[in-house]
Amino acid sequence: MAPGREQTYDWAVEISHQPAHSTPSRPDTTDWTVPSAQGCPQCGFVPIRPLSGVARRLRDSVERWQAVLELPDVAVRPEPDVWSRLEYCCHVLDINRVFTVRVERMRSEDVPTLEGWDGEVAAVEGDYNARDPRSVASDYETAAHRAAELFASLEEDAWHRQGVREDGKRFTIATLADYWLHEVQHHLADAER
Ligand SMILES: [Zn+2]
Repeated sequence: MAPGREQTYDWAVEISHQPAHSTPSRPDTTDWTVPSAQGCPQCGFVPIRPLSGVARRLRDSVERWQAVLELPDVAVRPEPDVWSRLEYCCHVLDINRVFTVRVERMRSEDVPTLEGWDGEVAAVEGDYNARDPRSVASDYETAAHRAAELFASLEEDAWHRQGVREDGKRFTIATLADYWLHEVQHHLADAER
């Protein structure tokens, strides 16, 4: 369950046009803005309130991802179309980086348009499975702490500042944080299995 793509699209069309095992992550029919807002029955995520808890949740994810990356065979996919633990962690590391920039822009700009980011493409271009797990763990720690510091420094009313994704979906910093933290938790659940 690793929808690298953010936008909702017609998965039935997508599947019928795919050769078998062409995608590193299994399609998911869910629009991830919904479970991030309403809670996700698959991973148990509920939006973090009060929002002051967001920074700590990001910091707490560091130790869990480090533990995942110390497991044997981290670069082995359990099935050809399911990401390895290393790939999941690289994916969430990139999410932390991309979303940090988004929040910085939403904080400083007036309703910025947030460029799309395709996690599937990033996984291929970034050659996730060839990375050194120890350096990924270190990079994850750096990125998660940077993001946590950003959230910890937000003024109270900044959580309501807005940005628009390229597909028209409008977020506040608070709802983007929900979306982001759901990605972290859902993929941790995938990788800790
Ligand atoms: Zn979930």
